[in-house]
Amino acid sequence: MQIGFIGLGNMGGPMAANLVKAGHQVAGFDLVAPMPEGVTRAATAAEAAKGADVVITMLPNGAILRAVAAEVIPAMKPGAVLCDCSTVDVDSARAVAADAEAAGLGALDAPVSGGIGGATAGTLTFMVGGSDQAFATVQPLFDIMGQKAVHCGATGAGQAAKICNNMILGVTMIATCEAFALADKLGLDRQKMFDVVSTSSGYSWTMNAYCPAPGVGPKSPADNGYKPGFASELMLKDLNLSQQAAASADADTPMGQLAAELYKRFVEEEGGKGTDFSAMLPRFEKRHRG
Ligand code: NAD
Repeated sequence: MQIGFIGLGNMGGPMAANLVKAGHQVAGFDLVAPMPEGVTRAATAAEAAKGADVVITMLPNGAILRAVAAEVIPAMKPGAVLCDCSTVDVDSARAVAADAEAAGLGALDAPVSGGIGGATAGTLTFMVGGSDQAFATVQPLFDIMGQKAVHCGATGAGQAAKICNNMILGVTMIATCEAFALADKLGLDRQKMFDVVSTSSGYSWTMNAYCPAPGVGPKSPADNGYKPGFASELMLKDLNLSQQAAASADADTPMGQLAAELYKRFVEEEGGKGTDFSAMLPRFEKRHRG
């Protein structure tokens, strides 16, 4: 296939590289990032999109996605598919898809989970919203860049799945960290805490697979000085998106709201920026009640 790829940063770069390795023709455009080997540099986003069967975007946020989409949609050939893999707000995902469909194109919102490691290894999970036809067109590319693609429903369903998942993740990480900090103050050994909780009803992915306590459980960013992994500011971004969506859908999400507030304070005032999101544990360790 001929593919236009716009946004070749930490995630987009290795994703595009995997498409080239699988034998596809990729024209790339990014404001600053270098082109991975085998990706042809286009002078503009529109040039990268021209003649492509599928245009993939991997951009920082919804405002940038809207601006890029306004430029590429008129350049795309009829019947081509615009597939956004960024994590953006549901409203932007829906607006961009509506514009693409009005122009006779297919459109998918297909955010990912799996991080930079998954992008490099080609083991991402894609959560996809959009038509059956557009999903079928892009599925062979999802198979190259990822290990799983779930067609979640109509436009916006991919972003909805992503932010709901990450709202659970943020809330659960905070709960796991505050429980470890409480256990410390009660004199409970961290390894014993792990042994019990990881096999009891408090178990979770954050405890069992990504334990925030160094030296306890499987290897995780906690064992590497809390170097990300998944950075706290990216968790804050996703929690803010969940709250924006909750406001727009009139949903009551008090735990998600508090998690967003705690990560905001952590990132902006407490030195959490640039640390893994599990560094909430050393934060709680230092704190007292009240
Ligand atoms: P990044 O900042 O490394 O990459 C974004 C790229 O977009 C940059 O290279 C930037 O130059 C480019 N860009 C910005 N504006 C542009 C424009 N107008 N035209 C062309 N290029 C433009 O970010 P990333 O880590 O690759 O993340 C990309 C998306 O993936 C984000 O939405 C993020 O939330 C999501 N995501 C990231 C991770 C992760 O672990 N990094 C995991 C899952 C999802």
